[in-house]
Amino acid sequence: MVKIKRALKYEADGFKSLIKSIHNIITAQNNKIISHDTVLPHIYKNDYEFPFETDILIIGSGVMGLSASYWLKYFARQDISVVIVEKDIDYSSSTSLLSMGGIRQQYSLEENIKMSLFGAHFIRNYASYFRLPLSNIEPPKISYNPQGYLMLASSEGVDQLHSNYLMQREYGCHTKLLSPANLKLKFPWLNIEGIELASYGLYNEGWFDAWELMMNFKTYGVFHGVKHIHGQLLGFESKTLGTYYDPITHQLLEFKRPNKAILNVKWGDGTIQRKKILFSKLINASGINAADVAQMLDIGSGEIGREIPLPVEPRQRYVYVINCPEGPILDCPFLIDKSGLALRRHDLHGNYLVLLSPQSEEFSEITNDAGTYFETNIRPILTQRIPCFKNLKVVKYWCGFYDYNFVDQNAIIGPHPYHTNVYMINGFSGHGLQHSPAAGRAIAEHIFHDDYVTLDLNCFKFERFSQKELVFDKHII
Ligand SMILES: Cc1cc2nc3c(=O)[nH]c(=O)nc-3n(C[C@H](O)[C@H](O)[C@H](O)COP(=O)(O)OP(=O)(O)OC[C@H]3O[C@@H](n4cnc5c(N)ncnc54)[C@H](O)[C@@H]3O)c2cc1C
Repeated sequence: MVKIKRALKYEADGFKSLIKSIHNIITAQNNKIISHDTVLPHIYKNDYEFPFETDILIIGSGVMGLSASYWLKYFARQDISVVIVEKDIDYSSSTSLLSMGGIRQQYSLEENIKMSLFGAHFIRNYASYFRLPLSNIEPPKISYNPQGYLMLASSEGVDQLHSNYLMQREYGCHTKLLSPANLKLKFPWLNIEGIELASYGLYNEGWFDAWELMMNFKTYGVFHGVKHIHGQLLGFESKTLGTYYDPITHQLLEFKRPNKAILNVKWGDGTIQRKKILFSKLINASGINAADVAQMLDIGSGEIGREIPLPVEPRQRYVYVINCPEGPILDCPFLIDKSGLALRRHDLHGNYLVLLSPQSEEFSEITNDAGTYFETNIRPILTQRIPCFKNLKVVKYWCGFYDYNFVDQNAIIGPHPYHTNVYMINGFSGHGLQHSPAAGRAIAEHIFHDDYVTLDLNCFKFERFSQKELVFDKHII
């Protein structure tokens, strides 16, 4: 009887704390607070509360981990248990919060276009996707700002831009081509020197708030029972399931499947303790650390079935906030210059965000000299292309890391061919945020149906690296 009473009290406390967590997340989101006290729903206090086993374990609660958890719960509600482990609960180095928040349809690869189309649909209809059943809690906004991407091409890029345009139109994107004369007419402040053709997204492009999207994913997940752990993944234990016959070497090998994660867990009182969690399936959503997590599973060790490493590494990018009251403000599209320079409006007070991905690989080396990089590489391009920016001032900058797939710069989605209970959602190389709704849905579908249901993303499978079926998109920025 005492036990039942204690269990009921625990259940009631759990429910109260769940409601409080959701309230905290929403308040934090509305106030744009990025702090672990308010946004972490469960800081475990003791072993009694700690989830020692789960159906699905997700490593990383950036936008990919949160999206995957959202879709798992969207499809299965309480029928599946989901735990997310995150080492950096202030999100200080999470790529998701350091992005420019852009969404575009202007890609050259069919799957990227379709993922973006779904991303735009999802963002435009976020209120219905995030509505909590039997609750009067309104989903917080996502601050979507519709504004077309304007892609500029020199004579070398004209054919590519034109064929991208035809493909985008075929899939229902509202892309429009602009001749230099029409470009000047529409954007008179633009210097069109060296530009032979431009394409402009008339619908479903723009930017949104990454933090708001993430907190919506999180709120929905917490409401449906997703558990969050503040902890760092250290490694795995595997269970021997039998023997594996390798058809190439004709060897009989012990077949092991990872089923336990070893974590350093941070408890509510700040102490750290080593814990293990039993899982059935694992999702590697660890962003720039994805290859390290893969290595813990011997992926890339050269052993049979695990020869090829996960080709993801951090690539440094600076985002600058510049101020120039004479700039085009509301008339400013999300501009992608032929040099690769990206510019978008930040607010209505003459502030803009600028990013330039380096042409050479050397920039992957960490450099602390953001000021020199701006003056040498960005200011000349910017003031040449937009002469009214001649008095611009750099207000601040931040440094983020692309989760860069250094083989073909596209996402790696789906199960690993050897560790079939390990799913990857990695390597988005600068376009992950907008593809997170489609990527998370794809992972959840694959987990439930062993294949994709709504959008076939098989081209992003890990096996493409060994089967030499690389996928390139001519419009990766
Ligand atoms: C400067 C910049 C601009 C960008 N602009 C855009 C844009 O305009 N549009 C767009 O769509 N995309 C953009 N992106 C890309 C986009 O932000 C990323 O592709 C996306 O956010 C990746 O999300 P993620 O969840 O995989 O990674 P993250 O957000 O980095 O999340 C991974 C999480 O895993 C955690 N983790 C790692 N290892 C462990 C471990 N061992 N144990 C526990 N936790 C762990 C990390 O702490 C981290 O929080 C941009 C990126 C950058 C850097």
